[in-house]
Amino acid sequence: MKILFCSPEAAPYAKTGGLADVSSALPAELRNQGIDCDVVIPLYKSIKKSGIPLDHVTDISFLSGQGISQGRVFSHEHMFFIESDMYFNRDGIYSYANRDFPDNLERFAFFSRACLELALALGDVDIMHCNDWQTALVPAYIRSLDVRGISSCYTIHNLAYQGIFDATLWPLLFLPYEFFNPSMMEYYGRINVMKAGIVFADRVTTVSPSYSLEIQTPEFGSGLEGLLRSVSYKLSGIVNGIDTHVWDPAHDKLIPCTFSPGNLAGKVSCRESLKDRFSLEQNKAPVFGLIGRLVDQKGIDLVISAMDGMISMGAQVVVLGTGERWHEENLRQMASAYRGRLGVCIGFDEALAHLIEAGSDFFLMPSRFEPCGLNQMISMRYGTIPIVTCVGGLKDTVVALGECEHPYGLRVSRPTTRDLLAAVGEACSIYTDRPELFSSLRDNAMKRNVDWTQSAIQYRTMYDEMINFRESKR
Ligand code: ADP
Repeated sequence: MKILFCSPEAAPYAKTGGLADVSSALPAELRNQGIDCDVVIPLYKSIKKSGIPLDHVTDISFLSGQGISQGRVFSHEHMFFIESDMYFNRDGIYSYANRDFPDNLERFAFFSRACLELALALGDVDIMHCNDWQTALVPAYIRSLDVRGISSCYTIHNLAYQGIFDATLWPLLFLPYEFFNPSMMEYYGRINVMKAGIVFADRVTTVSPSYSLEIQTPEFGSGLEGLLRSVSYKLSGIVNGIDTHVWDPAHDKLIPCTFSPGNLAGKVSCRESLKDRFSLEQNKAPVFGLIGRLVDQKGIDLVISAMDGMISMGAQVVVLGTGERWHEENLRQMASAYRGRLGVCIGFDEALAHLIEAGSDFFLMPSRFEPCGLNQMISMRYGTIPIVTCVGGLKDTVVALGECEHPYGLRVSRPTTRDLLAAVGEACSIYTDRPELFSSLRDNAMKRNVDWTQSAIQYRTMYDEMINFRESKR
């Protein structure tokens, strides 16, 4: 069985969020389990500049909305990179200075079509596993070109980003015009690229079972709930894992001291370093970390409006992220008002993310919706207790106090400022007054299995079913 995993990003080559982690860790675990799985991403400028050795594999050319499109394919270990300087040799992956590139549809239509061309050139690909709107056109190209012998699977990592574009851009896609109708890729008169993945892929997955059910309801379906219900026969949810080699407190080179469940002295030092890094007062106050995109999805507005309350409860807070300008600005201003108690870093900083995971006592994730979420699992591995809402992957991966015998998290009942403050208040009192409960939550969290083994087995089963189904039709 050969899988070509198509993604717009993969760690450590290009990363804006959790998709990059998934695109390197899941294929690695599949290979570990004996499946031939390569990953293909665009050859971005940053990768070219990084100096990694690249082997030229092949040149590709195909008919497209631009006439003839051409690209070159390079490889490095289990990665393929598609080169097109016109589309990818620029700063930024999807945007620059907070503005989306105006030619994103053209860029990722090229990339998707090029992925298919690569699969055809390789000759032995059974399944193309596509991810998010940037590769959702692959199944549409498989259909329109009547490619036999390659099945496709499409994974939705976040329904909030559907790739919606003006209908006048349709000719760029070089797809039959009959695909532009509401039961396929049209969405209220516009092009919806994600719909191509949902409609044309043989199987559709999301990154947690709860999210796969939620998105079939109006509350979480972002307008696609009807379509998703209509494909429920091929829709399922498989929870993400984390790369336990990258995120390993016992061997992490990005933190000042390593630690493990039986020996937490290193965590105490990480906490001190984290406080130093943000000039927080060195006292007994619990530290609440937050890393991520600063957008309403993640409940950042709730954290901002709860900040006064959290600080007056005696909490110290550390935030790392980038996102909406007004959230960034609000947080910066609050950091200067609460010097010594609130530390804010606006930016993307891998090493600092490791230090925050290692040095915090609690991790804030009051998301309004969460397809899976990786940070809560990373936190658990680093003995940092996640404080999470009860949605999507947060529901599936965190068992909170009061929910079972061996809890390892705290629940924010609903995504409101009030409920967030209640959860932070509970965390502060557990931390100060109930050290044994705090230690047992931490212990339980660190003992959770958050690696990819089980989930990769579920993907393997799905791939097997896809291939068996294809064979049965021959
Ligand atoms: P998302 O919805 O953004 O994919 P996840 O929780 O699934 O959120 O994954 C986020 C991943 O990106 C984690 O590995 C997290 O540590 C990382 N990350 C997010 N923002 C930053 C940042 N500003 N600096 C460093 N790492 C970040």
